[in-house]
Amino acid sequence: MIQSNGKKDPLKVLYLEDTPLDVELFIALIEEEFELDFLNVDNRNDYIAAIKEQTFDILISDYKLPSIEAPEALELARKYRSDLPFICVSGTIGEEKAVSLLKEGAVDYILKDRMGRLVSSIKRALKEAEEQRALARAQDELIRQNQELLLAKEKAEESDRLKSIFLSNMSHEIRTPMNGILGFSELLIKTDDLERQEKYVQIIRDSCDQLIHIINSIMDISMIEANQIRMNKGVVDLENVFSYLHSIRSEDFKKKGVELRVKKMPEQPTRLITDENKLIQILTNLISNGIKFTKEGFVEFGVEEGDHSLQFYVKDTGIGISKEKQTLIFDRFRQVEEGSTRNFGGAGLGLTISKSFVKSLGGEIWIDSVPGKGTTFYFKLPLK
Ligand code: ADP
Repeated sequence: MIQSNGKKDPLKVLYLEDTPLDVELFIALIEEEFELDFLNVDNRNDYIAAIKEQTFDILISDYKLPSIEAPEALELARKYRSDLPFICVSGTIGEEKAVSLLKEGAVDYILKDRMGRLVSSIKRALKEAEEQRALARAQDELIRQNQELLLAKEKAEESDRLKSIFLSNMSHEIRTPMNGILGFSELLIKTDDLERQEKYVQIIRDSCDQLIHIINSIMDISMIEANQIRMNKGVVDLENVFSYLHSIRSEDFKKKGVELRVKKMPEQPTRLITDENKLIQILTNLISNGIKFTKEGFVEFGVEEGDHSLQFYVKDTGIGISKEKQTLIFDRFRQVEEGSTRNFGGAGLGLTISKSFVKSLGGEIWIDSVPGKGTTFYFKLPLK
């Protein structure tokens, strides 16, 4: 049933009144307009229990009862149900007290001999309460929208800052091998010494590899951002993959004096169905980071059997990563060291690319690291 107050449910009224005749009069007046869900209390304790435990649309109170007076009833109402309209219905209490009640937040004061006003007063109070609630909802929504805008602004600023760092890193990462190629090509032209020629050509080759690595990373990240990553799955022989990785990286490790270890394969299975190139790229990224951030000790990679999955790991005894940075570094352009404080090269893309590949292959990647002790990256791939 739709009430004259626009509500479908009965009007829930709490009436603090100890004179039964007044209660009866009240009900008779109100029932003409509203379907009532009515509770009458006649003392302080029952009043407190009611406003604490039940919900109402409106509170009506006599001014003076043996255990409580309207100002306290109003104060309690503000404390427990601050949005409920409070109307005082009473005999003459004097203008001063009435005004004081209204000042404290009562919506109306009605003399018992003017009860005819009651219905219109309740209607007005309900309308105002609804308007207040709508206003509060609008304010909440505005606050929420402001917070969202603020977050979006901070995100945009952070993204802008990271892009600037990325661009400055990039120009450094590209310029270094380019300068190597230019400088050593000139030296190559000038020398007839065969040994020197071989050395210079090797440096030029290494610089070209670095450049290609950077270009590939940029291509990968742009494909990832455009959602264009294509998977090419097939049966992968892990023994082959592991010995390939070991053979292509062992020279770099020897030069740095860090050991590259491969953990012995589990008996079964050494084959899984996945994208071999992506798997090699993920492991290469993690092994490259391993050597980059390890001064002494070893980098070890291997695989262990899991539940319908294989768990790969790359462990190093390098500088480690603090807890706060461990989730950040999977975001693009993120590096533990930023800007001019950087001791290590890199564009901050390797882990973002690896994470995205692992996800596309149906797996997950995570990290376990202790600063000063070392880092282990794990990733899990489904067998099929
Ligand atoms: P890049 O190595 O090109 O900076 P990555 O995305 O591969 O980009 O790595 C992001 C950052 O994570 C690195 O700059 C480094 O601060 C940190 N990091 C990655 N791997 C390791 C590791 N094995 N040990 C210590 N720090 C690492």
